[in-house]
Amino acid sequence: MDLSQNVTAVQEKISAAAWAAGRDPSEITLCAATKVQTDETIRAAIAAGIRVCGENRVQELTAHLAADAYAGAAVHFIGHLQTNKVKQVVGQADLIHSVDSPRLLQAIDLQADKLGIVQDILLEVNIAGEVNKGGIAPAELPALAELAADCSHVRLRGLMAIPPIAALPGDNKKYFSKMRNLYVDIMSKMSDNQSVMDCLSMGMSADFEDAIAEGATLVRVGTALFGPRPPMGTPR
Ligand SMILES: *Cc1c(COP(=O)(O)O)cnc(C)c1O
Repeated sequence: MDLSQNVTAVQEKISAAAWAAGRDPSEITLCAATKVQTDETIRAAIAAGIRVCGENRVQELTAHLAADAYAGAAVHFIGHLQTNKVKQVVGQADLIHSVDSPRLLQAIDLQADKLGIVQDILLEVNIAGEVNKGGIAPAELPALAELAADCSHVRLRGLMAIPPIAALPGDNKKYFSKMRNLYVDIMSKMSDNQSVMDCLSMGMSADFEDAIAEGATLVRVGTALFGPRPPMGTPR
């Protein structure tokens, strides 16, 4: 596996998908999903042109930060965040993608207040209505967005979704399209306050081109950059 070739290949696919959709490739950010990767691999990815790393687990985020592995890139938190781990993420992650409850939102706001900062966040939507999956139901999104707008230490930047693993290519287009509609709707409701809505985070290795066709501004890509991951729980 050649990481730098993979980075170039994914960037080229992003550009092609953007042009095909009549969009400028510069509108789309590639976020490298770095879960289970080592400090060395993360540094190599940044050397190869990655400018945003997305971390899933608080423990890995903390360890890579301590090793200064993300130097030269921004760090996003893209995994499920427990309220009791907010302290380890607020002020460390440039953007938290996975805010999906009033309780989590308020815990982030409180911690950011303590640090005297404003934390950028996305609201995660459970767009396919899957049980046992993070994300707020679409019907509850407007109320959560309003609550976010009232939190003076968070800045709502947009929405994020993790649709189901598609059985067939193209299966997730309908979910990406629903996400774009929700994003446009929330953006119009938020236009009268200080929030900057500029991020629609959707699309992974298997479907980022479809996500771009439907309006994604950030794609989170792991496998297509780093190769297959060991199954969860495998010792490294
Ligand atoms: C792992 C992960 C990705 C990337 O998945 P790939 O299929 O490996 O590209 C994207 N988003 C989140 C939230 C992830 O956990």
